[in-house]
Formats: sequence, structure tokens, C-alpha cells
Amino acid sequence: MVERPKILIVEDEPAQREILLYHLKKAGFAALWADNGEEGLLLAQENLPDVLILDWMLPKLSGLEICRQLRAHQDTKHIPIILLSARSEEADKVQGLDIGADDYVAKPYSVVELMARVKTQLRRNRASLIGAQLRFQDIVLDATTHKVFRAGLEIKLGPTEFKLLTIFLEKQGRVLSRNQLLDQVWGRDIYIESRTVDVHVGRLRKSLLQHGGDDPLRTVRGAGYALG
Ligand code: CA
Repeated sequence: MVERPKILIVEDEPAQREILLYHLKKAGFAALWADNGEEGLLLAQENLPDVLILDWMLPKLSGLEICRQLRAHQDTKHIPIILLSARSEEADKVQGLDIGADDYVAKPYSVVELMARVKTQLRRNRASLIGAQLRFQDIVLDATTHKVFRAGLEIKLGPTEFKLLTIFLEKQGRVLSRNQLLDQVWGRDIYIESRTVDVHVGRLRKSLLQHGGDDPLRTVRGAGYALG
């Protein structure tokens, strides 16, 4: 089954929200929504969306405050955020980016333009979800055909190892904790012992080394694993 990109919309204006939901679903994305800041923050923390479309002015908790809170926690700080605002002054734009939004769109916006920006964030952060080829040195993962090659030779991986490698490739250079890997590979609703992560990373490592070459996976003591 192909994983669909998960997009969260936090927007209190029903008409705008409906239009966005319509276009996101049409593009094949799984869309979640909230109409106030508190619920939006909770949904973001629970679901770890691939992109968050966040209105600035919201009841209960502002978009800026949500940005701040998401950026302050390890689990949520990398969620790509597109901030929407009716305030178009340049100063606001700078402030929006300062507090950690990845992109900023002034209202009124074109939905087509906003969709393009959502895809840009996905390409940057979850390239596998749009069927891209992911690379690291001589390792190539094709998200469309689900094949992995190292130095041109195919490497057969089990589904869990394939998912792990996808995440490592998308977050290359970044240290990923066992908990982060658990959340992203198995999901948050399933209880899995963190030792299981070590077992599957071990299998992935062994597979990647089957035709020789250097070990691309780093074990970071007390922290987790990183590619490169
Ligand atoms: Ca609003």
C-alpha cells in the first residue's frame, strides 16, 4: 500500500478550510483539520503531519504560538509549517519566518500556488511520498518501484527495513532516536519495544553491506542512529 502524505489544516474560516480540504484530497493527500488553535496543536502533536498549513489568527491559540510550541519539542520541531496570514506587511513575514515557519503565504492566496508550496515542502522533507528517488552516496532508493540499489547492485529489503531506509534517506545527516524511528515506521498507536528498532537497523545495515562498501549508518551512543 502506498503511504499518502498527511496534511493538517488549522484554519477557522470554514469556506477557506473547505476549499483547501477539497484540493488536498483531490491531490491524493490525507487531510486532517482543526478550526481552533488548541485542537490544531493537539492534532499536530498526535499525528505528526507531513505538512502543516497553519492560519495565523485563530481562536484559543494563535498560529505563532503553535509554531513556537511545535518547534520547542524534539518530536514536532521538524514538521514543515506553511503559515497563512491576512497581514501582508513585510515585518510580519519576517516575524513569521523567525519563529520557525518554513514558508509564508499572504491572504488572499491562490489555491494552486499554495498546493505548489505544499508539494515543495513534501519534496524537501518527505520525498518518498511523491515517488522521488532518494540518494545517499552510492545508495539509491526508488520510491515508485520500491527498489534499492547500492553501487548499481540491487539490495532486497524487508518492508520494515525499506521504511527505515526511506526515513534515514529523507533525514540524512540527522540523528534519529529510537522513539522517532518507532513513531515513523510502526506508528504511534502500536506498542513496540525499542530493542526492536535495534534489530531492524542491524538487518538494514547488514543488507546495505552485502556487496561491500563502507557502513553508511552511524550508531550515536545514547541518542540513536544517523545516515552519514
Ligand atoms: Ca483566521
